[in-house]
Formats: sequence, C-alpha cells, structure tokens
Amino acid sequence: MSTLRFYAIKESMSHKPIPVEEKERRSDLFGKNVFNENAMRQHLSKDAYKGVMSAIEHGTKIDRNIADQVASSMKDWALSKGVTHYTHWFQPLTGITAEKHDAFFETIGGGMSVEKFGGDQLVQQEPDASSFPNGGIRNTFEARGYTAWDPTSPAFIYGTTLCIPTIFVAYTGEALDYKTPLLRALHAVDNAATAVCKYFDKNVKKVSSSLGWEQEYFLVDKSLASSRPDITLTGRTLLGHSSAKGQQLDDHYFGSIPTRALNFMRELETECMLVGIPVKTRHNEVAPNQFELAPIYEEANLAVDHNSLLMDIMGRVASRHNFKVLLHEKPFAGVNGSGKHNNWSLSTDTGVNLLGPGKTPMSNLQFLTFFINTIKAVHDNEDLLRAAIASASNDHRLGANEAPPAIISVFIGEQLTKVLEELEGVTNGKLSPEEKTDLKLNVVGKIPDVLLDNTDRNRTSPFAFTGNKFEFRAVGSMANCGNPMTVLNTIVAKQLKDFKVEVDALIDKKDLKKDEAIFNILREYIKASRNILFEGNGYGDAWTVEAKKRGLSNNKTTPEALKARISKKAIALFEEMNVMSKVETEARYEIEIEEYIMHIQIEGRVLADISRNHVVPTAVKYQNVLIKNVKGLKDIFEEQYKSVSQEQINLIEEISNHIEGINANVTKMTDERRKANAIEDIEKKAHAYCFKVRPLFDDIRYHCDKLELLVDDEIWPLTKYRELLFTR
Ligand code: ADP
Ligand code: MG
Repeated sequence: MSTLRFYAIKESMSHKPIPVEEKERRSDLFGKNVFNENAMRQHLSKDAYKGVMSAIEHGTKIDRNIADQVASSMKDWALSKGVTHYTHWFQPLTGITAEKHDAFFETIGGGMSVEKFGGDQLVQQEPDASSFPNGGIRNTFEARGYTAWDPTSPAFIYGTTLCIPTIFVAYTGEALDYKTPLLRALHAVDNAATAVCKYFDKNVKKVSSSLGWEQEYFLVDKSLASSRPDITLTGRTLLGHSSAKGQQLDDHYFGSIPTRALNFMRELETECMLVGIPVKTRHNEVAPNQFELAPIYEEANLAVDHNSLLMDIMGRVASRHNFKVLLHEKPFAGVNGSGKHNNWSLSTDTGVNLLGPGKTPMSNLQFLTFFINTIKAVHDNEDLLRAAIASASNDHRLGANEAPPAIISVFIGEQLTKVLEELEGVTNGKLSPEEKTDLKLNVVGKIPDVLLDNTDRNRTSPFAFTGNKFEFRAVGSMANCGNPMTVLNTIVAKQLKDFKVEVDALIDKKDLKKDEAIFNILREYIKASRNILFEGNGYGDAWTVEAKKRGLSNNKTTPEALKARISKKAIALFEEMNVMSKVETEARYEIEIEEYIMHIQIEGRVLADISRNHVVPTAVKYQNVLIKNVKGLKDIFEEQYKSVSQEQINLIEEISNHIEGINANVTKMTDERRKANAIEDIEKKAHAYCFKVRPLFDDIRYHCDKLELLVDDEIWPLTKYRELLFTR
C-alpha cells in the first residue's frame, strides 16, 4: 500500500468515537442561543418588543430609537452568554454563508474601554464586498454593498459570536444575495394568496409559505478524505473504481446508524437545538455512509436560513469527530447521490394549511383552489423551476440516471387524479342546483377520506403532492434553498394573482356565484395543465419520449437549463411580482453561468493533475515490475519464456493502452480547455465546457479506473472506494 494511503487508513482506524453526553433535555436546549420572541419579551422594553414584532408580522419599519434599544438589549443578552463579537450573517451568491466579526469592545479614551453595540451597527453594515459575486452589478472599484438587518429571522449565538441575519444589497438597491429576492417572493405570495383566501374566509390577513427540507449527506473519515485531492478540492471523487460491494444489498437504508456517525449526529443535533433549528429525524440513506437529517418545517425564510446554518455547523462538528461531510450531489459514482427535498406549503394566520384538505366542502374547495393553482403554476413555469435547481453538481443527478429526472412533472396520486377528472366535467357557466349538490357531496366533500390513503408515493417524481404539502425533490443537496423557494413562491404568487382576476371577471361579467366562478376557472386550469401531471416511472425511456410529445422541457445540463432564467417571460414575471428587476435577473444568470464554468474548470484541472501525477506514474512503476519479471522469466526459461509469461505480457500491453488513453485524453481536454478559455461570450464558453471539456472526464476516468483494477494494490496512491465508503 502506498505510504500516503497507509497512513490515512492507519489514522482513520485510530479514531475512537467521541461519546456525546446529553445532560439536558432537548426541549430545554431548544433556542437557548436565539434572541427569539421569548428572549425579546424578557429583554426588551414593551415599545421595543412591539416595534420588532410589528416589523416581523407586518413588515413595518423599525425606527432609530427602537433599533438602539433592541441593539443594547441584544448586546446585554449576548454578553451574559460569554459572547465577544457580533457579525452580520448573510448569504451571498457563492452559496455559502458569509460573516465578518467585529468585537463589541471599544476604547473610549483615558485607557478605558466599554462593550458597545448601537442601532447603527445592528441595522446596517458595509462589508468589504468587492469579492462577492455580483454579475456585473457593481464594478469592483465602486464595490459598495451593504448588509441590512432582517428582523424576521432572529439573531443567534454561535460559539462566541452574535450572528445577525441580514440581506445583502448594492448601494444602488440591487440584491446581491439569496435572501432579498426570497423575502420579496414571500411578500408576493402572501399578498396574492391572502386575496384568494378572502373568497373563503374574510378573517385571513396573512399567508406564509412553509418549508421543511430534508438534508442528505455523506460522512467520510477525515484522514481518508484528505488523502484524496479530488475530494479536498472539488467535494467529490473524480475517479475511483466501484467497490465490489456497493448499495445493492440495501443493507444501509434505515439500518442501525454506526456508532461513530451517531455520535456526530448527536452533537450536531445539540448544536442545532441551541441555535433553534428544530431537527427531528435522522436515518441512514440508501448508499453506504450516506445519511439524512430533517427538521420540523418552519416559515420559509427562517427555514432557508436554518438550512444554510446547518450546512455550516455540519462541517465544524464533523471535523471534531474526524469526519468530512460531503454535501456534493454525487460524491461517488455508482451509488446514490444526495438531494434536498423541499417540502412546501402555504398556511394562513388563522391556522389553516392551504394544501391540507379541510372538514367542510367549502374548505375543500379552498384546498382544491390552492392545489390546482400550484399545479398550473408548475405547468406554466416548469423550465424556470428546473433552472432554479441547476448547478454543475446537481447535473450528476438530474441529467444522469439518478432520481429525479431533469423533466419537471407533478405527481398527485390516483385519488386526486380522479377528483380532477370529475372537476374537468363541470358545466360551463352556471351550475344547476343538482350539479352543485353533487359536487358538494361526491367530489369536494369526499376529499378528506381520499387523502388518508394517498400513500402511493412515487419516488421518481421531482414534484410530488404528499398529502398536505408539495415536495420539490429535485433540489440539490448542496444548494441554498433560497433560490428554488424564490422561484416556487413567485410562480405561485403570479398564478394566484391571475386566478383572482379571472374569477372576479366571471362574477362581474357572467353574473356567476363565487363558487360557480371558482369551479369554472379551476376546470379550465385542469385542462390547461394536464400535461404536467405524471404518475408513472420517471426513469424510463418511455417517459422521455412521452414528455417530449407533451412539450415539457428536458434540460439535462446547467447551461441549457439556465436559459429559462432570462427568457422574456421570466424577466417579466420577476418584474411584475416585484421579486427581481431585469438587471438583477440578468446578473444572477451571469453569476450562475460563470460559477458553472469555474466548477468544470477546476474539476478538469484536478482530474488532469491526479491522472497524470498520481495514476500514470504508479502504472508505469507497476509496468516496470512486470517488465523486469518477464525479463527474468526469459533468463530462466529461455525459448519457452512466452508460455509462462503470456499473462504478464498481456498485462503490460493493457497497462500501456490505458496509460496512452489517459495521456491522449488529458492532452485533448487541456486543449479543449484552452479553446474554451479563449471564448469571450460566457454562454458559449459554458457550452464549450459542458459539451467539449466535460465529456472527456469520463474517458479519462475510464482508463484510470481500469488501471486501479490492474495495478498492485500495494502501490496504488489513491484511497479506494471501499475504504472511503465502508470505513465506519
Ligand atoms: P419523507 O419524504 O421522508 O417521506 P415526510 O413525509 O415524513 O418525509 O415529511 C417530510 C418533511 O415534510 C418533514 O421534514 C416535515 O417537516 C415536512 N412538512 C410537513 N408538513 C409540512 C408543511 N405543511 N409545510 C412544509 N413542510 C412540511
Ligand atoms: Mg421527502
């Protein structure tokens, strides 16, 4: 075994599980380090409390005086918990969280100092923002952007730092982060949905969007992971032959969690509890060393923050347990990749889940209204939804033979399909009393029973209705949920807005009763969005053919998928809903395309490096051993040497072919990269990287993986799949 591998494996064996003691109940730990409603009630004056709550609930502005009071109380609360620094915590378009710590400590002259934190520092900061992606919104020499407090996501303490969730915008007002458009989208869906709710209940004043994410990830021993340059630099393995045993025995899924992983999870959960992430479930996933963690769902903005925070905390806790967390969508070929299901719904301030069927026919009509409008929204914007989850790493799932496919479709189950079929038959115009009764008793009235047996869950569907929520399953494990949540809430907001206009028009012009008008419009929506509904197997070739007939897009790669983001329709949609200006939409497109290019570029460099500097020299070394051996045999057996050394000779030849294969393809790839780099137009450049550079990865990998099987294990320099995936 190569020295590097030997020491990595030896090191990994020496890690004993760090036992995690749980002294306190989780419910006692929960939110202990969060400046939440409870803490605010205790620490803020009545006025200040009211001011913040009104900002949270109604989006009112917090005035200076109140901000000063809040800052001062926040500081005292934080100092009492041993905190020394504060930071504006935000989510720039790099996808990871950003922070810059400042101490509360300030000198006041005369050798004296105090701990200070005023409204100014709470409300607004100016990070040196020149090196965050901005898609051409700011030139670096005028790199002025600022972060501004988002009171709807409570401040929290991590370590000894008070973290204040903020938005990040340019001085010219454009969003430079994930949170700003999300907040705007949530506002849009609130307005549109509240207006529609008024058909059913005049008391509804606010509708919130909820998100419950499920985070999948791999845990790999830290020493083994760091022995692999590809994992270290790209978060995934660029080569490596499948292990003799993979996931075929299904012995990992829901199996007992290995002790070392369990200890990691327990400490992770404790940390999550303290910062108010309500983690609830944990289990093994399908692939070896793959796991999942999910919280109780929350208001979407908070849930997005919590997911970003979680991904950060995971890395830190893992390191303490000598693990490396791999959040990449496809760290290992040949076993399942990781996703992040986004469970989504809408609920009213009167406590009604709008995607949960109710007890009365009227509340079920409300359910159907939101249910069908969501389907229509997805139908009309399937390509935009696909674009929202596009990334180089997620292409390994969506474009390849992995769940779910790149084609967006909606699964609703057999029972609701029947309900929609019946609604499609509703009379055009006024309904007879008999028809109304029939609808009430036999269609709308029956829904609750029906959904109880809606257990048929199609695992291949990218967007599935699961009883009382939709589950957007195509989101990548590494993604910031802000992007898909912005798009989903925006398209639903737009759809509900149009729905309201259409229903009102029917009531006014055709003199229809409210529910008649609703039935009429829903009928048309069902007809119009039939093509997006799909209950079958999403993996099959039959579906690809069928989807094409239906006119659904099937964008397997990021450069193709992202196009939808800057279509005229998308730009107009984001503008109309006040979610993003044209400049913001175009900037985001540019950032995402550039990120794609860089991603593939880095992978290309790393792959060339490992294959040429690690694999080829090792293969040559082994080949020389074989050559020496054959020569020795020739000395002994003279003329007959061929009959005893044929195997070795074949092997020498085979190794030669693979070395040649690697060298030729690496040269080709380097050439293609050079050509791609010379292209000015970023769209064309991304296409070159996607269709000229990237396909060569597979060819290079093919030869490397073959050599892994041929070359002496003793000298193979790279930690193997069996070691990475089965070390527990
Ligand atoms: P699975 O997809 O693994 O079968 P479940 O159906 O048990 O999972 O639920 C998955 C997730 O759905 C949970 O994380 C839960 O928080 C979330 N969830 C449940 N109700 C809602 C809702 N109304 N809005 C958003 N998420 C929800
Ligand atoms: Mg799920």
